[in-house]
Amino acid sequence: MALSNVQIDQILREYDDVRREERDALDQRREYVYANVAGYRELDHKAGMIAVSYAERLFSGEPGAKEKMDAEIAGVARDKKSLLRSAGLAEDYLEMKYRCPLCKDTGYIDNREKCRCLKEKELNILYSQSKIQTLLKKENFETLSYEFFEGDQLEAYKKTVAVSHAFVEQFDKKYQNLMFIGTVGCGKTFLTNCIAKELIDSFHSVIYFSAPHLFEVLADVTFNNKNSRSVADLNECDLLIIDDLGTELTNSFVGSSLFSLLNERHMREKSTLISTNLGMGDLADRYSHRTASRFISNYDICVMSGPDIRTLKKF
Ligand SMILES: [Zn+2]
Repeated sequence: MALSNVQIDQILREYDDVRREERDALDQRREYVYANVAGYRELDHKAGMIAVSYAERLFSGEPGAKEKMDAEIAGVARDKKSLLRSAGLAEDYLEMKYRCPLCKDTGYIDNREKCRCLKEKELNILYSQSKIQTLLKKENFETLSYEFFEGDQLEAYKKTVAVSHAFVEQFDKKYQNLMFIGTVGCGKTFLTNCIAKELIDSFHSVIYFSAPHLFEVLADVTFNNKNSRSVADLNECDLLIIDDLGTELTNSFVGSSLFSLLNERHMREKSTLISTNLGMGDLADRYSHRTASRFISNYDICVMSGPDIRTLKKF
């Protein structure tokens, strides 16, 4: 869901590579021991022969055969360890090494439950894909503060925070879109980041773009045939964030590509979060009435106003 199949394949290939490397390293260590620890190779052979020699007795159901065999195998294992020790090597020198002992570098525990190392890899991809990983450490629901707000502005901000929490909580249950309208520095980008972090931490793919950058990328795709991978991500990621809509240079390309992007996502029921300084009337003027009516019918709109936090925070 959150990661594309290509990304999942990539992660699983990394696990394959790790296991192969470790198997190769183990083979090399064994070669070393065979060449340098006298008697070890014979013990290895002996251990293999024990099982063979007991096969018939086990098959015929001889009482106590299994216990005898296990004891013999354990004896050989002890001898092997003491040979390694006397050669100055660790007892587990010839055991397979796992970088993650929990899942033995497979990514899954008991073949079904995702190991935490796999989840970590997924998160790394999701964070780097969002392009705002460093920001999210500073700007999240835990660092959210109402300090710079009062009166009506405080009420509006609190309401938007509540809407943001609900958006996150219901994210997997229903298709929804959000729009934050507000003046510069009223905290809308901060709330956008709060939402991004919560959703990434619950393994959703989130892509963040400032509006100017978004339209640069879209123009690159359309006119220079570049970045086609980005477009698939833009259409398919779980949440697309378009920050500061209205700050880009406007032209007819911007208007039509915005409409088709929002339309694609709407058809796929993929959520979009937009922040803008523009009021609804300005949006209609700038991007056409059909785009504005999309916003009105499909978006929860939060209007915020407030002190310019960016300025206040400097003092
Ligand atoms: Zn693991």
